[in-house]
Amino acid sequence: MTAPLIDPFQRAISYLRVSVTDRCDFRCVYCMSENMTFLPKKELLTLEELDRMCSTFVRLGVEKLRITGGEPLVRRNIMHFFHGMKRHLDSGDLKELTLTTNGSQLARFSQDLYAAGVRRVNVSLDTLDETKFADITRWGRLPQVLKGIDAAQAAGLRIKINVVALKGFNEDELFDIVEWCKSRDMDLTFIEVMPMGDIGNEDRLDQYWKLSDLRRTLAEEYTLTELTERTGGPARYVRLEETGQKIGFITPLTHNFCESCNRVRLTCTGELYMCLGQEDMADLRAPLRNTPNDDAPLEAAIREAITRKPKGHDFDYSRQTVDGRMSRHMSHTGG
Ligand code: SAM
Ligand code: SF4
Repeated sequence: MTAPLIDPFQRAISYLRVSVTDRCDFRCVYCMSENMTFLPKKELLTLEELDRMCSTFVRLGVEKLRITGGEPLVRRNIMHFFHGMKRHLDSGDLKELTLTTNGSQLARFSQDLYAAGVRRVNVSLDTLDETKFADITRWGRLPQVLKGIDAAQAAGLRIKINVVALKGFNEDELFDIVEWCKSRDMDLTFIEVMPMGDIGNEDRLDQYWKLSDLRRTLAEEYTLTELTERTGGPARYVRLEETGQKIGFITPLTHNFCESCNRVRLTCTGELYMCLGQEDMADLRAPLRNTPNDDAPLEAAIREAITRKPKGHDFDYSRQTVDGRMSRHMSHTGG
């Protein structure tokens, strides 16, 4: 049997997030600049290479794959890749195949995603106001996303809404969003904004809405019960006693999750990031391309990379400068 991936801190790596494209049909202000330069196509892993890469990780013990981007559903023929991954679900080696999407293409692809074995989808949506939605995503249109969510639910996909908490932007919609998710039986998670990319530092600090503050506001209306549930990631959960809803909080800037971190991230160019908050990475594209008929060098490169998984990350907002901020974009690493 192949030995599983265990890092130097005895954490088993069972979760791979894969960015399948750096392109997107939106330009969210906290994620991309308006005139992004995208990677030349030849830099990207082909769909066949993505399949080989993911299959190798599955062979090494990865049980959960999350497909992300950029916007994963704008990658040409991406459904071909999803249908390919279904064989790992069918064999039982892969326990879950999911994606994170802005929802713009869900009306088109939901049924196909379900057919490929996807059961849960994270949809990123920061506001229910059409004008604000157009502002924050620059190119996005809310009705299109809402239609996508309808289609996804009709196809049988369970939806989780991911909301980036932004001071002065969606603070006033907190309760509306909670109630909307309740009325549609969707899960909900709030995400603290992270210092990624090169979009004006100050703007981001201005927009930084601490989730502890958000929680306190929530507690003014609801009784919050802390849940012990852990997913190996940065999410923490509470239950709203009055509605029974489970609400997640992702605070990647605190160090409360590194010790149980079970995940690594693959970029669309085949770079493996062992930690979201650190620059260290391993190039897996070279071993993949150099030996098309032999996965041994790729496996060795993955194992070597995992020995370099750091204990934790270095984000720090505490001194009002974004120390430890990363130069790469979320759309490259995958959120
Ligand atoms: N395009 C897809 C989407 O928006 O869901 C997938 C990729 S996107 C990079 C993944 C997630 O990262 C989204 O939920 C997005 O809101 C989040 N994100 C992007 N930039 C962020 C930032 N600077 N801080 C916190 N979350 C961010
Ligand atoms: Fe696109 Fe997602 Fe980034 Fe928004 S957050 S620009 S939808 S990749």
